[in-house]
Amino acid sequence: MPIHILPPDVADKIAAGEVVERPASVVKELIENSLDAGATDIRVEIRGGGKRLIRVIDNGCGMSAQDATLAFQRHATSKLRDAADLEHIETLGFRGEALAAIAAVSKTTLITRSADEPVGIELKLESSELVARRSVGGPVGTSITVEHLFWNTPARLKFLRTDATEAGRISQIITRYALAYPEVRFAYVTEGRLAFQSTGSGDRMETLMKVYGHEIAREMLPVEEGEDVIAPGIRVSGFVSKPSLHRANRRYIELFVNRRYIQDKNLTFAVVRAYHTMLPEKRFPIAALFIEMAPTEVDVNVHPTKAEVRFRQASLVFRAVQRAVHRALVEHSSVVGLGLEPEEGSRAMWAARREPEQRPEEPDQLRMDLMQAGLSTEPDSKQSRAEVGSASEIAATRGGAKLPPLRPVGQVSAMFLVAEGPDGLYLIDQHAAHERILYEKIVAAGENPIPTQQLLEPMVIELGTQLAGAVAQHLPTLQQSGFDIELFGGGSFLLRGVPAFMSGQDPRRLLEEVADGLSERADLVGRDREDALVRIICKRLAIKAGQTLSLAEQRELLRQLEACENPLTCPHGRPTILHFSARQLERQFGRT
Ligand code: ADP
Ligand code: MG
Repeated sequence: MPIHILPPDVADKIAAGEVVERPASVVKELIENSLDAGATDIRVEIRGGGKRLIRVIDNGCGMSAQDATLAFQRHATSKLRDAADLEHIETLGFRGEALAAIAAVSKTTLITRSADEPVGIELKLESSELVARRSVGGPVGTSITVEHLFWNTPARLKFLRTDATEAGRISQIITRYALAYPEVRFAYVTEGRLAFQSTGSGDRMETLMKVYGHEIAREMLPVEEGEDVIAPGIRVSGFVSKPSLHRANRRYIELFVNRRYIQDKNLTFAVVRAYHTMLPEKRFPIAALFIEMAPTEVDVNVHPTKAEVRFRQASLVFRAVQRAVHRALVEHSSVVGLGLEPEEGSRAMWAARREPEQRPEEPDQLRMDLMQAGLSTEPDSKQSRAEVGSASEIAATRGGAKLPPLRPVGQVSAMFLVAEGPDGLYLIDQHAAHERILYEKIVAAGENPIPTQQLLEPMVIELGTQLAGAVAQHLPTLQQSGFDIELFGGGSFLLRGVPAFMSGQDPRRLLEEVADGLSERADLVGRDREDALVRIICKRLAIKAGQTLSLAEQRELLRQLEACENPLTCPHGRPTILHFSARQLERQFGRT
């Protein structure tokens, strides 16, 4: 076929396909227009899953008769003047495509009236063609009715799902906007039945309860709006689920940038990462996060449905999100305020009240395990107790903080250690603490590989392509981490030994888990990836929640944590230790 230019109606339908994929996309575009028009009341009605009818009624600014006719032209917009305006978009729409696209693939009726006009106007279009036009009375605002969507593009119609599924997607769009705009009153009516309504009170928590239900909303923690020193100009607020509430996939993590719903794998990962080790494997949190930044910092003009955006400083946004979520988790999951900054005067106390060295007479199991793995500090280690003590005096500020000497009191839920320090009570997460210890040991080991426990018989382990790829790529790191492993051909590996501390565990599962962890972090390269591997291994190696520790083992764990460079968090940034100062305790008990 020789090249020819497509007739306008064909071109229009093709263009429409990019913007209008399904009924929910129509609803999305119409709601965005209503919000851009300053509406405070938006009502969405649908029939037949939106295939038969979609109607969006708003009380926004409306349009003049002249604008109304223009609005259906392609590239007709009141929101953008020149290319420079694209640099700082503050409206949800800006391309002037939606109404043209919708009108191209449906029978559309527009009724609108602006405040300056005594009467409104009604326009009817079919396949982009104006078929009727008349003056009508009515309130200021706009009503757009879209009937028989895709009636002239049967191929597209075929791809739509059942009415119920399409209605579900529409409901998702509406509830998202209701959350993003709590000051706007949304109503959603399907088949004549009111399915959802928000009050427009401006209270996001109230909307959250309507969207998620009381049960779930109660389990959500607020992410307080606050600017992070590391990410000035980026504000993150919203809600995230407590670690006790989780889902089987990432779909329940909803992100908004300047109140526009977006999809962003990286930021979703930032949210998940903030929960690291707090959630069971392959489980994900629920989140509704609102990220605010200057419009110049984000390019919303990169995706046909504007569902993806590009950040000027993506890694800053990533960190801001991760830290905000993390803060919410840490701050709200404890009963009382906490902080590791010693209160005035207590620095001196740390030194004065340092306990005599308490080392177990006989090596206990944990210690033996650690020694076996070559990870234990030997008794004559350079890292003496005195050094730890004095380091803590110097660096007793957040960030470079060290631990004061701690005396174990006992274990709670086989998960946390309770310890007494010079200034009050300390709770230690045994798994996180041990992860930190192992991490620093492995990193410090550097060239000296972790000892390997040879298997009685070498095993040939076959992994799927994806896992095999991850393993092959990281053979040297795996070898350095104590795996005696080599390529066997195809997707197979010959495994002769495993890290000593991991012996006794199913070697195949061990390797699979490590490889799995690696393939999940396929985005990492070079050192980051090595580091990720080490962290995966630490996580696997560390004593688990649920493991009972003797007092001697507890003491040993604390001693090794004190010796850490960075004892306050696990390698994933989760706190290892919470501190309740004597003064805080007194306050909580009403003694001061
Ligand atoms: P865009 O939103 O990108 O500008 P649209 O095709 O969605 O493009 O809309 C075209 C124009 O029609 C908008 O710029 C706006 O001026 C006008 N318009 C659309 N919907 C409404 C509405 N609900 N209320 C007021 N004006 C509207
Ligand atoms: Mg629009």
